[in-house]
Amino acid sequence: MKFQCWRNIVGRIHSVGQVFISKEQLHIELTNYVIARGFNWKYLKNDSVRLTVRCYVDVCPWRLHASVVREGPEFAIKSLNTIHSCGCDIMSDGHPRTSKKWVVNVVKGKLVDKPTYRASEMMRDIRRDYGISIPYHQAWWGKEVAVSSLYGDFRTSYHMLNWYSERALQSNLGSVLSLEVDPETQRFQRFFICFQASAYGFEVGCRPMLFLDGTHIKQHRVQGVILAASALNGNNVLFTVAYSITDSETYDNWALLSDRRIAFLSDRGKGLKEAIPDIFPNEHHGYCFQHIMQNFNDQCARRYAAPFKKLLRKILQRIAYAVTEQEYQDAMMATELNSADAKEWVLRNDVDHWSHACFPGQRFASSNTQAICCITFFHSCSYSWALHLL
Ligand SMILES: [Zn+2]
Repeated sequence: MKFQCWRNIVGRIHSVGQVFISKEQLHIELTNYVIARGFNWKYLKNDSVRLTVRCYVDVCPWRLHASVVREGPEFAIKSLNTIHSCGCDIMSDGHPRTSKKWVVNVVKGKLVDKPTYRASEMMRDIRRDYGISIPYHQAWWGKEVAVSSLYGDFRTSYHMLNWYSERALQSNLGSVLSLEVDPETQRFQRFFICFQASAYGFEVGCRPMLFLDGTHIKQHRVQGVILAASALNGNNVLFTVAYSITDSETYDNWALLSDRRIAFLSDRGKGLKEAIPDIFPNEHHGYCFQHIMQNFNDQCARRYAAPFKKLLRKILQRIAYAVTEQEYQDAMMATELNSADAKEWVLRNDVDHWSHACFPGQRFASSNTQAICCITFFHSCSYSWALHLL
């Protein structure tokens, strides 16, 4: 016996008179037992009232017979010969009884403690604990079935969103929760959540500035995008105001109620670029400088040699961080002197949305949405599992 935990498993089938709560439970224990001891069985009898199995090797005397107790569903072992003459304790790397169902039973307990348990970790643990190698697809499917049986099917949890929305509104008066489905296909389109407490916190405790960002939900094969609106509070700490789960990052409804003038900061994503002026025509929309710099690298600076590229990037930074008209003009002049192309690129790319000096609203010295990427990523993780827990 190579592995310690097998001793416990093998010990679970031990004697005549032993009772199991059902035939299915006996089957599970028997499967663990044969995997642990490294042999396979053959059925002699297998029906609703009896189970008789023997070792797969004909000459080996190992045999188990169990039958139903009175009306059931309990099953009891009536005869058992635990002696093998087939040399089954010499283990191989795989086992024919390590089915998807077996994997489910092995990992179910661990998935309760650790919902992010990955298929590759399952393979590693099974290898370590049982000495058995299972293929990745078997581990992956085993996990899928185990997750479904623990939390319900991921796709059908969307049906619970109506219920969740109603209950959340009842217990959080003044909140805005909106679930939208395609009127024809009834497919999920969008779920917007802004709790009253979050809106109030933004109103009284945060600067009038919203960071908008979206990220793809990658934790599960059910795809989608999570969009989050976050703010900075008086301590410069991020504060989530609202978020929305959508089928794609396009035009979205950022329905926030506020009397104040708000400055929006985003990555200049196509949907946001169109939606903000449309929904909030009087508000100012700043673009994340980190994304602007990335675009500049990709579209304009690529053709230059490294030292010159570095110089242009520095000048671009001067344009972004210029706080007076004079500083801005000086930086633009420096751009023109070095590269007419670069100046043209700057003018073409909405400089009044990302240079402090040109921006008509207040950015409170915030230039990028990098920190918000972390928040939206966090939401995407928690959302994947929230759906399971609904
Ligand atoms: Zn045997």
